[in-house]
Amino acid sequence: MTRGCCIWLTGLSGAGKSTIAQVLAAHLIDAGRTVTLLDGDVVRTHLSRGLGFSKADRDANILRIAFVAAEIVRHGGIVVVAAVSPYEAARNQARDMIGHDGLVLVHVATPLAVCEQRDVKGLYARARRGEITGFTGVDDPYEPPASPDLALTTLDCDAVECARRIECVLEGRGFISRS
Ligand code: ADP
Repeated sequence: MTRGCCIWLTGLSGAGKSTIAQVLAAHLIDAGRTVTLLDGDVVRTHLSRGLGFSKADRDANILRIAFVAAEIVRHGGIVVVAAVSPYEAARNQARDMIGHDGLVLVHVATPLAVCEQRDVKGLYARARRGEITGFTGVDDPYEPPASPDLALTTLDCDAVECARRIECVLEGRGFISRS
């Protein structure tokens, strides 16, 4: 059986997590793997419906995602998680649940100013106007991962190249074979 793994993308809203996750998932599916995409925005509409953005709710959201991810990895699948996951402690808990060997942590480290300029969903503008409170990067903290397996600024390369860099890590760790 092929080894399962979880590629966990963490970073600010608008950093590029979903975009990179979609490109990566498409490549891996093309390569014949079974891939599940757990996108934070989508997860919040079902698995985590009803949860808000307090620290406790954010932690609960991450632990639910980690629970599902751990099952997928255990059964040899690939799961790509795209979630802000702002707190180091919750990410470490997720790593413990999934297993250190099966997790590839990617920090999508687009600077706040760039995310805010992109403002894909108009959320930064709303947060600056005070219409949303507790927004990560504006009035809620983002704790950068202390030791990610890979960090991508997204400034020097497009989403396809970002996905390719992740695939190199997956090859190096033996999760996928060299193409
Ligand atoms: P997130 O999921 O982190 O909230 P999204 O993927 O929804 O972010 O949005 C990121 C935006 O940044 C998209 O409009 C995307 O086209 C753009 N973008 C520009 N450069 C990159 C890159 N190198 N990687 C990913 N997204 C990028």
